[in-house]
Amino acid sequence: MTPEEFRQYGYRVIDFIADYRARIAGYPVRATTAPGAIREQFAASPPAQPESFASILEDVVAKLLPGCTHWQHPMFFGYFPANAELASVLGDFLSSGLAQLGLNWQASPALTEVEELVCDWMRQMVGLSDAWHGVIHDTASTATLIALLCARERTTNFSLARGGLQAEDQPLTVYVSTQSHSSVEKAALLAGFGRQNVRTIAVDEALAMNPQALEQAIQADLVAGKKPCAVVATTGTTASTAIDPIRDIATVAQRYQLFLHVDAAMAGSAMIVPECRHLWDGIEAADSVVLNPHKWLGAVFDCSLFYVRDPQHLIRVMSTSPSYLRTPADEQTTNYRDWGIALGRRFRALKLWCLLRAEGVERLQVRIRRDIANAQWLAQQIAATPPWQVVAPVPLQTVCVIHQPPGLTAEQLDTHTLAWVERLNASGIAFLTPARLGHRWVARISIGALATERRHLEQLWSALQKAVATDLL
Ligand code: PLP
Repeated sequence: MTPEEFRQYGYRVIDFIADYRARIAGYPVRATTAPGAIREQFAASPPAQPESFASILEDVVAKLLPGCTHWQHPMFFGYFPANAELASVLGDFLSSGLAQLGLNWQASPALTEVEELVCDWMRQMVGLSDAWHGVIHDTASTATLIALLCARERTTNFSLARGGLQAEDQPLTVYVSTQSHSSVEKAALLAGFGRQNVRTIAVDEALAMNPQALEQAIQADLVAGKKPCAVVATTGTTASTAIDPIRDIATVAQRYQLFLHVDAAMAGSAMIVPECRHLWDGIEAADSVVLNPHKWLGAVFDCSLFYVRDPQHLIRVMSTSPSYLRTPADEQTTNYRDWGIALGRRFRALKLWCLLRAEGVERLQVRIRRDIANAQWLAQQIAATPPWQVVAPVPLQTVCVIHQPPGLTAEQLDTHTLAWVERLNASGIAFLTPARLGHRWVARISIGALATERRHLEQLWSALQKAVATDLL
């Protein structure tokens, strides 16, 4: 494609996206296609000859759009808000167009320095002290894996420089909660701890990790000859945004010299409003924290911030210094390849930089506050309308509900919950994702899409009431 063709089709792509966003409320929220239906529209073998970009774009509209679930739809209440502010989308375009590859500072000084800048802006925005240093990764899953690698190497005093975990005398243990995201266990397994050495700590009635149970598990492991290594606490669990007591967990972690990583992937965005910061009280005593601006904040996926208090330790775990990457500037600059797994680095910081500049902190705060108030409003309507129940605390923007007509067994209640959620999703009016909370299925209503206003919550509340009605006839 020539630059002139790029200009021609680029305008059309922008027009398409602008129209898509303007009309998004008219689409059924969930994709309407059956499994396999998208793929079977296309030839099984790759095109041998060039096609016009116009026909490619036509296929996007006619053949791909029906296979899209509309995350930016005002009635999207599934999973978590994955907001993609258009300013941030432009930042992502710029990143692709500039096509920078940050192998080291010299390979793209702008990439490195804007990443440093936005990590520090975000640090200030969420109220972390200047003892923290940040880097951008693709996802929280990657950040948590890196955190556990750092923990492993701290506890073993750099076993990787010797025989690795395989040569350690004592098995290392990791502590998570029953509500931790699946990426935490995955990280522990990939970091080599082994499933037998991952302890799942009980939670209290608010679904928060119980620090006494944590301490008991550590003590039991010490008696059994294990070496406690790391605890992963969550600020804002996936199922219900439960809040682990960071301060108490940090006290236990320090007592036994455990590495403390805090997963604030979802809730971290809320810390830009000072009144939410009590939710991660004690955070300064953690060793690392991850938060995803690609969720609620509005940076288009993927953009995950990983902060550590001891970057020198992280660098020691992650660094490589092949001759072909060394430069005279190495001593004065940050080489982010030493802060994570990948060598190549996109200019991801641009989409966050564009978001923060185009929106400004105050407007972002207004939106977060709006969503929290909307969640409170919906929770109040639901709690006041038996047999609906709100079944978990609502500290942020997620409301977990059941509709429990009298006389249902536990099994019947689960069947009823899954049936009415599916009916609602199939209607295209709104989209929710159910989850198991303790022993039962609940409907999670995850509020916070950019376009979701109070009137959409009112529509949702009436759609919920209609969705349960069919089962009751
Ligand atoms: N941690 C929590 C609490 C989450 O809610 C999620 C995503 O839902 C993740 C981790 C995983 O995030 P990512 O997709 O960035 O790996």
